Amino acid sequence: MNLVAHLDEIFLKGNNQKLFIKRLIDNLEELFPGVRVKRIEGGLWLENFKDENLKRLALVPGVANFAPVFKADLDIKKIIKTVTAHQWGNFSTFRIKSERSDKRYPLSSLEIEREVGAEINKQFGYKVNLKNPELTIHVDISSEQALIFGNLITGAGGLPIGMSGKVLCLLSGGIDSPVAAYKMMRRGAEVELIHFQNQTQVTQEVSQKIFDLTKVLAQYQGTVSLHIVPFSKWQKEIVIKAPADYRMLITRRLMLKIAANFSKKIKSLALVTGDSLGQVASQTLENISAVYESVEILKLSPLIGDNKSEIIRMARQIGTLEISNRPYEDCCSLFVSKHPQTRAGLKETLAIESGLNLSDLEKTKIDSFQVHFRD
Ligand code: ATP
Ligand code: MG
Repeated sequence: MNLVAHLDEIFLKGNNQKLFIKRLIDNLEELFPGVRVKRIEGGLWLENFKDENLKRLALVPGVANFAPVFKADLDIKKIIKTVTAHQWGNFSTFRIKSERSDKRYPLSSLEIEREVGAEINKQFGYKVNLKNPELTIHVDISSEQALIFGNLITGAGGLPIGMSGKVLCLLSGGIDSPVAAYKMMRRGAEVELIHFQNQTQVTQEVSQKIFDLTKVLAQYQGTVSLHIVPFSKWQKEIVIKAPADYRMLITRRLMLKIAANFSKKIKSLALVTGDSLGQVASQTLENISAVYESVEILKLSPLIGDNKSEIIRMARQIGTLEISNRPYEDCCSLFVSKHPQTRAGLKETLAIESGLNLSDLEKTKIDSFQVHFRD
């Protein structure tokens, strides 16, 4: 089928509009091989699109909405023929909405709406409802052709990936961090992922889980770089030297330090986490401050003000929830103390950390993988 798609937030882009559109076209052609994407007045034309990919298209950043589309010659009789030839489905009320980007067309928008509407009413028995119709049939008139399409399917909106620079997202096996990664993609950031792995645990399922989450995210970005950090050495050091109630905080500080260091190598401008204020003990303002203070680079937490139920809904929508729910031992779950520190003092945190031998931290080796959505 062919689709018409509209872009989100493009009116904000001024001189960058062209870049913005070109980026979205490139992204779509990479994500949907075999589909040709062309710029048309008011939006994009996607040719040769497969039905089974519609759900995924609805999550591609930058697309405001889309619908299957039919072309007709500009002659009003041909337009009516095309509109009535299509089976619109089970509706009882409708309206025709016409827009003319070429005002030279002999009929006004209202006249087009009336003529086409009368025919639809006659042939299908649908009733006109201008305020709240179940079906809106759009007739868009340009200088060369008429485009006809029904109800628009809402897309993810936001900006095309690649418009906002690169970020590095700390991906755990939980529900939150994949959603955080997706939300950054939706604001146009290219996201790379970093995962800290405790190798003394049975790690087979853990890495499978992390790869599976990465693959789901690659459905929207095309290719996602995943970096895995063997972390058991540092965990041992923490278990030996830090009191139980501070272990989680120190762990997260070390993760940020390693991630910040790696960020420079890949030229990422920010670290992204799945933190949500107050959700768990490590996410009080005091604790988040004590953790984020460990590195200078910009830290972004796109879920900070989201409720768990909203995060779960989004995880379900993007397809990560089921994978995140698989049971596994995260390297952090080992550290969940019965009485974790909820109001960490920075002085105390720093004092504990200074007792650790971190001289090799910068040399931590990192394994990198390129994950493609089709693998
Ligand atoms: P999530 O559901 O994403 O695991 P959470 O609510 O369980 O989040 P924490 O376990 O406190 O929260 O972790 C907070 C954030 O720290 C995570 O969202 C993630 O960004 C990062 N993080 C935690 N553990 C890891 C890990 N093993 N590897 C990479 N990042 C991690
Ligand atoms: Mg977690």
